[in-house]
Amino acid sequence: LASNNSEKKSELAYKRVLLKLSGEVFKGESEDVFDGKVLMDLAKQVKEVVDLGCEVGIVIGGGNIWRFRDNEHLRLPRVTSDMMGMLATVMNALAFEAALNDLGCEARAMSALGCEAALERYSAKKAKAHLAKGRVVIFAGGTGSPFFTTDSAAALRALEIGADVLLKATKV
Ligand code: UDP
Repeated sequence: LASNNSEKKSELAYKRVLLKLSGEVFKGESEDVFDGKVLMDLAKQVKEVVDLGCEVGIVIGGGNIWRFRDNEHLRLPRVTSDMMGMLATVMNALAFEAALNDLGCEARAMSALGCEAALERYSAKKAKAHLAKGRVVIFAGGTGSPFFTTDSAAALRALEIGADVLLKATKV
């Protein structure tokens, strides 16, 4: 099995992939923030790629729950609203981590925003170690700073983990 995997790995066009998933994709056609079927379908697709021997990092958005620009009418301070958006990405990361684990695909959610009771704090070094062990790493909390988006986080993480390609899946 080990030699099969390394054979497969050497045939891959991209060995380490950074996928940006917008929060909106978890919504599917549902009125709720999550569509359970979509969540599992996405997890299955990620598992298929991992089973080929590809290392997968995922930056997750929060748009299905909270986005600064969708809530400007509430007149919350910008930093507060952005923190809420980053927390939304943490919720999505935990849901997706659970979906992957449920399929027997090892996954670790990490957050740039401190939420240590729920998930590990992001560090590039630890993320790379997880990836090298074949675990999917889910990057939550965006960049950890307000006034940014998870697209910026995706570009940053792709560089930090030395991804061969950055892919974006979005409905927006
Ligand atoms: N956000 C932030 N800093 C970041 C990433 C995200 O403040 O580094 C906040 C921002 O308010 C944003 C929300 O989190 O609107 C959700 O992220 P994003 O809009 O990128 O999610 P997506 O549209 O990809 O689901």
